[in-house]
Amino acid sequence: MRAVFLDRDGTFIIDKDYLVRKEDIEFIPGAIDALKLLKENGFGLVICTNQSAIARGMMTEEEYLKIQVYLLDILKKNGIEIDGCYYCPHLKEGSVEKYAIVCECRKPKSGMFERARDELGINMRESYAIGDSLRDMIAVSRLGAKTVLVRTGKGAKAEQVELVERFVDKICDDILEAAKWIIADCRHRYKK
Ligand SMILES: [Mg+2]
Repeated sequence: MRAVFLDRDGTFIIDKDYLVRKEDIEFIPGAIDALKLLKENGFGLVICTNQSAIARGMMTEEEYLKIQVYLLDILKKNGIEIDGCYYCPHLKEGSVEKYAIVCECRKPKSGMFERARDELGINMRESYAIGDSLRDMIAVSRLGAKTVLVRTGKGAKAEQVELVERFVDKICDDILEAAKWIIADCRHRYKK
């Protein structure tokens, strides 16, 4: 499967600095259209999100999962089926003992992406990632996919870092522009 790995906060929903209430979910303008476009063009959609609010004791894992179900439900009602949804609840400095560990899944580490790749049979060479932070790009890029940094969320800041040159293939204003670029780039590469 060809997939697009999606960061959540600052990429397709507005970054609220630790979203812990489902009422605070607000889509970035154009995000629904972007996800639809990607699906229509044959991409699997995989969400990979760091949720350190769980390790910080700001919400429980169960509370997070309720928000996830609610979010996936809204997307489904808009005709968008998400193929995989992965989250990292950990943070080494966290206050909840169970989650205060050095893990292999917190981005920029590669754990969530490798799990998705193996569980969903994703061909990384034909895949892409969209995110608003370099943390979303580094592992995916090393695993062979192309990356798009968006200027929504923390993206405007991330852009100034020199690592952008190494790990970012394209910078776009938002996820809709990113989706259009990915589709065009993919057509160009595979002449389908
Ligand atoms: Mg983000």
